[in-house]
Amino acid sequence: MSATPSLPTLPLVASAIAAPGIVDKGAGKVVEPKPVHAAERDAATELAGLSREEVLATEHEPASKLEQAVTLFIVVVPLIGLGVGIWSLWGVGISWIHLVLMGVFYVLTAGGITVGFHRYFTHKSYEAVRPVQFLIGVCGSMAAQGSILRWAGYHRRHHQHSDDTLDPHSPHAYGGGVWGIIRGAWHAHVGWLFEGHPKGVERYVVDLKKDPLIRFIDKLFVVWVVLGIVLPGVIAGLVTYWMGGDNVLISGLLGALWGGVVRLFLVHHVTWSINSVCHIWGSRDFESHDESRNNVIFGILALGEGWHNNHHAFPASARHGLKWWQFDASYVFIKALSYVGLTRDVRVPLPERMEAKRRKN
Ligand SMILES: [Zn+2]
Ligand SMILES: [Zn+2]
Repeated sequence: MSATPSLPTLPLVASAIAAPGIVDKGAGKVVEPKPVHAAERDAATELAGLSREEVLATEHEPASKLEQAVTLFIVVVPLIGLGVGIWSLWGVGISWIHLVLMGVFYVLTAGGITVGFHRYFTHKSYEAVRPVQFLIGVCGSMAAQGSILRWAGYHRRHHQHSDDTLDPHSPHAYGGGVWGIIRGAWHAHVGWLFEGHPKGVERYVVDLKKDPLIRFIDKLFVVWVVLGIVLPGVIAGLVTYWMGGDNVLISGLLGALWGGVVRLFLVHHVTWSINSVCHIWGSRDFESHDESRNNVIFGILALGEGWHNNHHAFPASARHGLKWWQFDASYVFIKALSYVGLTRDVRVPLPERMEAKRRKN
């Protein structure tokens, strides 16, 4: 007889991640925090085939100077390379049409991850009307970071186990030293997507699986990824045709390259940086049980996700940039939709909850 039926606690973990100490502005009621209990943590540990001692023995350590330096190198070099590529190919392999398409599809798909996969489907930090749910689900899928159920399952597990051995995409998984850090960076970047499906992740998304719309978006994941590459190509071709250009096919292919493939690289790279940089570098304004940091660069580039220490402290908040100067594009968008009735019950932490969790030094 299998032991797994005796471990029914993980769906409770998902609800704990989705609603700790947050005021529901719509109903005006405070939801008290539900800490992740040791028994629930043990259940996940057992599902992963590890002993609790193994997990505790490898609890995270703060990032070393070497880790910071190598990560800086890995993060910055591809971005410089992209800038040099655009500059050197200008007018030959890229034009303003392709650059605009890359920007538009970057915002659409990175926004699909932040506004959709992360803040809506995983954390339920606000409510949205059905058409908005569909659109943010499709846009998030076009970022090619795994299907909606897989992404949400992994991310709920990340919150429960951030920076310990059960974290699905911790950059600290391969130890110190340059090679260990590079391997950890690759693992946190996209490697984790190809490392099979650990046991028990489905248990984190029992609530989401009940929704036929989510199941539909999830099932067609590959279609959405292909659409995210083909669509900018088609648009580039049509715009070139409309402008009377004679290189419609080439422009279309370049649209798919810059708006599809290169944009995918950019979104992957920036999202990975939340998993790596924002668990290594930046300020820690609030108490959280991990190494999460607020990083201003990725606060901007990742549309607000870089205020990651705030997010780990208040996972169910729709707003990650909690200070006036911490610009959070995703929250601005979610809030704007609420004014026209497309979203509602947008959750933010109560001031007293923030004060209670604020780090003293
Ligand atoms: Zn994190
Ligand atoms: Zn999260």
